[in-house]
Amino acid sequence: MTHPPRSHGRKTIRPSLKPRELIEENPHIVGAWQAQVITLFPEVFPGVLGESLTGKALKDDVWHLDTIGLRDHGVGKHRNVDDTPAGGGAGMVIRADVLEQAIMAAKQQAVAPQPIFYLSPRGVPFNQKIAQHWASEPGVTLLCGRFEGVDQRVLDHFRIIEVSLGDFVLTGGEIAAQAMLDATVRLLPGVLGNAESAVEESHSSGLLEHPQYTRPAEWQGRAIPEVLMSGHHARIADWRRAQSEELTRERRPDMWAARQKQD
Ligand code: SAH
Repeated sequence: MTHPPRSHGRKTIRPSLKPRELIEENPHIVGAWQAQVITLFPEVFPGVLGESLTGKALKDDVWHLDTIGLRDHGVGKHRNVDDTPAGGGAGMVIRADVLEQAIMAAKQQAVAPQPIFYLSPRGVPFNQKIAQHWASEPGVTLLCGRFEGVDQRVLDHFRIIEVSLGDFVLTGGEIAAQAMLDATVRLLPGVLGNAESAVEESHSSGLLEHPQYTRPAEWQGRAIPEVLMSGHHARIADWRRAQSEELTRERRPDMWAARQKQD
């Protein structure tokens, strides 16, 4: 029995009230994952995210990246964004009213409501689980701080969650934003090819990845472990798993203990 061919994909084109230029300048494809970054330095984006797999996915509209420049929302002739800390002390703090304007602009531009995070050394440590969670949202809005940080009232008012790249202090949130977006975007469907499955990577399975080798078969007197050249898939899988477990036990007793508890 034969079935009539079924068509997949978009069949109807919806009319839009937006002028053509606006659509072309801001071509948000429905369904594309949307990253918004609020920053004093929009020119550093997409940065490294414009290369390789994340760059290709950006060109292919798998995801979109919008920057909201804090300076555009600055106050006065000099478009000031910061002021001295209440109570005194070193440095400058980004003003609440400036941040509010930038956040409202981001909300307006968002295709779907999406959570806002502040990159901050005080935040919860970013990890693979958070990347997976972000990838399952319609997108995320990231607020990059500079100087001493941002006015606390904005974080409280908009219920912004703080996330940290690690226990060290950066000069600004931009590098952290790019790192976290990289980790998230590579988990979106279609970004990694079949060849680069995310399932078996370090931190996806609760284990660190086994060692990798490629040609030449012998280098500086070192051979590739024999089992990998055997073509015996089950033995290779066993070897890799054993290596993963050994590495994790040795290097990350914390991960190993968490795993033992699960079993
Ligand atoms: N005075 C702050 C540090 C400010 S660093 C404190 O002691 O907590 C300036 C900006 O860099 C911050 O506002 C934040 O956006 C960013 N930043 C610094 N370290 C970071 C980290 N580990 N993770 C994410 N963002 C960080």
